[in-house]
Amino acid sequence: MAMKHRSYAFGIVLAAVAAIAVVVGAFLYLKKEPAHPSIDEATYAEIQTVTASSPQLAPAASRIRIPILAYHIVRPSYPSDSAAVRALALTPETFDAELAHLHSAGYHVIGFRDLEAYFASSTPLPSQPVILSFDDGWGDQYEYAFPILRKYGDTATFFVFTNAIDHGKFLTWTDLRTMLAAGMTVGDHSRSHPFLARITATSTLWGEIDGSKKLLEQELGTPVTEFAYPFGQYDPAIISLVKQAGFKSARGDYWDGGEVGRNRLYTLPALNAPTTTEAFDRMFP
Ligand SMILES: [Zn+2]
Repeated sequence: MAMKHRSYAFGIVLAAVAAIAVVVGAFLYLKKEPAHPSIDEATYAEIQTVTASSPQLAPAASRIRIPILAYHIVRPSYPSDSAAVRALALTPETFDAELAHLHSAGYHVIGFRDLEAYFASSTPLPSQPVILSFDDGWGDQYEYAFPILRKYGDTATFFVFTNAIDHGKFLTWTDLRTMLAAGMTVGDHSRSHPFLARITATSTLWGEIDGSKKLLEQELGTPVTEFAYPFGQYDPAIISLVKQAGFKSARGDYWDGGEVGRNRLYTLPALNAPTTTEAFDRMFP
């Protein structure tokens, strides 16, 4: 009996030890448990990051940060350059350095048509997209900027006003055809570069908007579907004529650094490209 009692007591001790082992084991297991969520958290964070930085995963209705740069003059600087010219002019070296910086900082140059397709049909965009555009049709854009764009395999849209083409220091039809053949885009910047909002006659406005488009298309043999408002200025009547003429997007006033949505396709905000590499690098960190 004593033996029985002893073995009974031993059984209780064993059971107690086993129970403690279960409790400790469970405790250790539960203590270990948070390790799994932390792995999941990492995976989840990764998915979140991919979603946040890949516009192709976002619905097209969403807003997107799309810097649109407007360049004017790219050529060596002259001592005689006025302050107004200096404010808009970059040397070829500076332009080259800006494109090099965009590439090394992970930006991807896209065109207005890519942005239109993104908003219209959710066509994916690369991460960190940026649009390059050139205004007013200066001949130096062909001479200096075009070769640098080709060097980096980048494209740009050249907004020209038709009265200037083939005159003086402006681009020629031949320049435009050559750039088109190399993958550049030609956009419409009106016929005479007026303040459109000051024009009261609709027929004159229509000529500035649609007349210039027809001439560009006839001379270049390709659809011209992007418009840039002269001086970046527009009003509802002008926007309405731009849409009627068949443009798919229009570039307007100044970009504040924020995101834009589909509702800004005809008032796309842009910024004059910084004329120093320091300012440019700050804009594209
Ligand atoms: Zn202009």
